[in-house]
Amino acid sequence: MPSRILIIEDEPDIRKTIDYNLSKESFKVLQAASIQEGEQILASDKIDLVILDLMLPDGSGLTLCRDIKSESQTKHIPVIILTAKTEEVDRVVGFELGADDYVTKPFSVRELILRVKAILKRGPTKQDQSVNTEYSFDGLILNYEAHQAHLDGKEISLTALEFRLLKHLIDRKGRVQSRDQLLEDVWGYSSDVTTRTVDTHIKRLREKLGPFGEHILTIRGVGYRFSKDAD
Ligand code: CA
Repeated sequence: MPSRILIIEDEPDIRKTIDYNLSKESFKVLQAASIQEGEQILASDKIDLVILDLMLPDGSGLTLCRDIKSESQTKHIPVIILTAKTEEVDRVVGFELGADDYVTKPFSVRELILRVKAILKRGPTKQDQSVNTEYSFDGLILNYEAHQAHLDGKEISLTALEFRLLKHLIDRKGRVQSRDQLLEDVWGYSSDVTTRTVDTHIKRLREKLGPFGEHILTIRGVGYRFSKDAD
């Protein structure tokens, strides 16, 4: 069964280009030109991944992203956001709302396809290889099975990607992880042009963790590591 990919994008040329190239890679592609059309397809078809434009004629793709990630029937579906360079804030909000990745317009179709493949390959089974079901240190408790994070007794809401990133750093505490390595291990692909994706996520993660975020150290010119004295 080929993976089914829904493109929600109001510009017909972009839609067709993505459709053409993904179909060539044997994906089954469905197209929607508005949020409403997208919602209809999501309600009636089995979809494995959504490519979502943010500026849509009947509203913001961010709203739809939030809805996809909050409904129990659709929240497992990965979302890749298409965003113009000037929409940095939207991109950050998109991750807040649970988007799995983003691609900046104008984008290379090849890169988009690589990301689609990486995300589909990642799947839910790859997420938890740890035998431990819980990690706790300095007020932070991560429940790996429930994918829940608590800090000083209060639940903090991490996206799936932030959770994976934090767990990845903790699992390798004391060891520097380069941005490229993180991209490959946490995001599932490597590409030298997108390492700032890592920085964006680390920044959001630190903000959510407050003072605890200081345990994530920046190693200049290399990457990040979780502080060694964490255990
Ligand atoms: Ca648009």
